Amino acid sequence: MRISQLITKTRKEAPADETAKNAISLIKAGYVHKDAAGVYVWLPLGRKVLNNIISIIREEMDSIGGQEVVMTTLQRKELWEKTDRWDDEKVDVWFKSTYKNGSEVGLAWSHEEQMVDTFRQHIDSYKDLPKSTYQFQNKMRNETRAKSGIMRTREFIMKDMYSFSRSEEEHKVFYDTVTEAYMRIFKRIGIGDSTYFTFASGGAFAEFSHEFQTICDAGEDIVYIDDEKHIAINEEVMRDDVLKNLGVDRSKLRQVKAAEVGNIFSFGTSKSEPLDFTFTDDKGKSQYVVMGSYGIGPARVMGVVVELMGDDDGIVWPKEIAPYRVHLVSLGADELVLQEASNLHDSLEAGGIPALWDDRDTSAGEKFADADLMGMPTRVIVSKKTLESKMFEVKDRTTGDVTNLSHEELMKYLA
Ligand code: ATP
Ligand code: MG
Repeated sequence: MRISQLITKTRKEAPADETAKNAISLIKAGYVHKDAAGVYVWLPLGRKVLNNIISIIREEMDSIGGQEVVMTTLQRKELWEKTDRWDDEKVDVWFKSTYKNGSEVGLAWSHEEQMVDTFRQHIDSYKDLPKSTYQFQNKMRNETRAKSGIMRTREFIMKDMYSFSRSEEEHKVFYDTVTEAYMRIFKRIGIGDSTYFTFASGGAFAEFSHEFQTICDAGEDIVYIDDEKHIAINEEVMRDDVLKNLGVDRSKLRQVKAAEVGNIFSFGTSKSEPLDFTFTDDKGKSQYVVMGSYGIGPARVMGVVVELMGDDDGIVWPKEIAPYRVHLVSLGADELVLQEASNLHDSLEAGGIPALWDDRDTSAGEKFADADLMGMPTRVIVSKKTLESKMFEVKDRTTGDVTNLSHEELMKYLA
């Protein structure tokens, strides 16, 4: 992609009302556009990063047998009344509207009810279980606070998976499988080392839910980390009985700020009972389906990556989610230089290495500053000097290390 063709531009300043580091960098670099508090538009570069994160999550969900669907934004009042979650007193994040005939409709902030209502019509027998299904779908939430940039927005894509099992034992096996898949996801995205399996409040039906908390100053949670066990405890369940149960020594815990990037829940039969979701067991007896739900916010993950890895100059993308692997900078307007840059751009793209080429007629300083701001993992310079030496100047965005590589060496380096 040539920068001269990109529909977005970098800008010197983020909007004055933007306070979150992640959003300031992403807006300046042209990844997102701020429409209102907690409402962001995804621009082409931002969409690519989000898509890369989504692809990793999708691969891992498919690998454990998840089947992808899409639920709807419009939600039926009667359905939510069955679980007593329509009332604004019970759920305070609803956006609601009305149909032309005057009847009320809700905008989905969660999809458990609709998932159950849909699949109770496909699952009848013990032979149909266990199963799991997931989606990437917008959630609309009337969040009170929206000051963490793209980490907490009022409209956001969530990956939510739901599992349907015959028994608690069967459920537990799948729950552990999802836990492992989640750790693989965060590792692949590049935040594995700072992300902890965290014990959190389970609500009315289970002792705990489990969060995936990434150490991050911009996070809104406080968790206590046990480094030996590589687990964490959310402050909301930080009690002596819990510590004792988990075999954790209070004096060995360290307190950190963290961002919840994922959250998994066991529901038992608490969702299937009110919605009458049953199956016939092998003895012909009707039983309630045992359920779990498993969420990840791809945009929050992206915000956390910007917060954790970015520096004073801008964004630093891990290779796995960067919109382009290479930021190619041609210096000057020399015909031979431009030809060389064009050839390199085309051969990278042909080799499956996405490259962004700064082909603009602007100063070297401006091009370097934009490359640092936009955060591609590798910057490659093509200039009269590099042409003479038949070497490219290659800079690693994370370490700042600069090396001179031949075309062949560069291809190997990027492979
Ligand atoms: P929080 O406690 O941060 O408000 P939650 O517990 O209400 O989140 P869940 O319903 O568990 O959120 O959502 C699953 C995942 O979706 C979260 O772990 C998070 O990654 C993401 N998420 C939740 N709310 C938002 C939001 N407002 N903006 C962006 N991502 C979100
Ligand atoms: Mg949560």
